[in-house]
Amino acid sequence: MSIMNFDRIMIRYGEMALKGKNRRAFEQKLQSNIAIKLRKYPNTTIKKTQGRMFVLLNGEKPHEVMKECQEVFGIHSLSFAVMVEKEEEQMKEAVMLAFHDARNARTFKISSKRTDKTFPIPSQELNPLLGGHILRQTEDVKVDVHNPDVEIKVEVRHEGCYVTAQDYPGAGGLPVGTTGKSLLMLSGGIDSPVAGYLTMKRGVEIEAIHFHSPPYTSERAKQKVIDLAQALSKFGSRVKIHVIPFTAIQQKIHREMPEGYSMTIMRRMMMRISEQVAARNELLSITTGESLGQVASQTMESMNTINEVTNYPIIRPLVSMDKIEIIDISRKIGTYDISIRPFEDCCTVFVPKAPKTKPTRKNANYYESNSDFTRDIEKALEESYIVEVSPDRQSGQQDDEFDDLL
Ligand code: ATP
Ligand code: MG
Repeated sequence: MSIMNFDRIMIRYGEMALKGKNRRAFEQKLQSNIAIKLRKYPNTTIKKTQGRMFVLLNGEKPHEVMKECQEVFGIHSLSFAVMVEKEEEQMKEAVMLAFHDARNARTFKISSKRTDKTFPIPSQELNPLLGGHILRQTEDVKVDVHNPDVEIKVEVRHEGCYVTAQDYPGAGGLPVGTTGKSLLMLSGGIDSPVAGYLTMKRGVEIEAIHFHSPPYTSERAKQKVIDLAQALSKFGSRVKIHVIPFTAIQQKIHREMPEGYSMTIMRRMMMRISEQVAARNELLSITTGESLGQVASQTMESMNTINEVTNYPIIRPLVSMDKIEIIDISRKIGTYDISIRPFEDCCTVFVPKAPKTKPTRKNANYYESNSDFTRDIEKALEESYIVEVSPDRQSGQQDDEFDDLL
């Protein structure tokens, strides 16, 4: 029985059309994002060498660290690896370890490379030597040089012999923080967290904005949004949530606007406030979970009418997706179970029985011109506050505990 274990994880991020300065920024950000993610594994260290990174485990549990790394955007694939002495028995033990990492592999291939020419065994001889060892130690396993279940890479270098196991998929995308910042309109639904995730995947750092309407919406409804933001923070490092008290504006819309337009006008108010928050925090775009055709309010007319009030770029990553694809992603990223908790959302509380599915800009402007919302918007902004979450803050905490993070 072997006591050998992997001592590092190899991280591949590919060339990615990155040149010069961009590449440096990409690598630095990736390294610091991995470091933040691995804070709870304090013995790990990160080493960068020509187009690759290694996480040295220094005794931390390999699979736990692997799981964390797989959530970091900007990584194409990862493998466990181990460095052993340039000595036959250790090398055999290392290839066995690598083979067993691919649990169901029935075929394998060993690819050896000998950089250290003082090592006496040339690579053509090393492949059958190490491969033969695996064949003797296993049953029903074959070598397949063309299409193996697992390719085990052996590299004999000056400082030692590296053995690398199967590839694990990385999260892809770009390191969060390399392509700017966006304000995510985060409701308690299924869609907006997924929209946030997909935006982060493209390297965007997000802050969130949430409109809530106490006492129509409860503290637990707000907590749900905090938990969603926390789930998203796993893919960045922390997320600030701008919580906007929205009751007064909704009541005024309810009182003063025609019922058929209340939904559209409410969304326009949300958008106006979002733009202000974005501008004040140097966020250059707004991200929403809007889709097309999911519900009666999600029409091209509605999008057009709501969009009139801002000229900020609106990122709508879900616009090309089916609901089933969105749900799949929400399950994968761990937001689904939070999203389906049965708490009310401010939109559903005030939702009219028959919202206009084809609103126009002209009508919306006309109705809004009968009331002045300027002061209400200012007041909502004044009364807004920030909740900040990070992955190591447990979900379900009370608000006053979050306050000390501000
Ligand atoms: P979701 O599943 O994200 O709630 P949805 O399918 O319910 O989306 P809508 O209710 O039409 O769609 O909302 C469209 C988008 O508007 C949401 O995805 C979200 O980005 C934003 N939004 C809706 N309600 C709120 C809210 N209370 N606070 C912040 N943003 C919101
Ligand atoms: Mg919703």
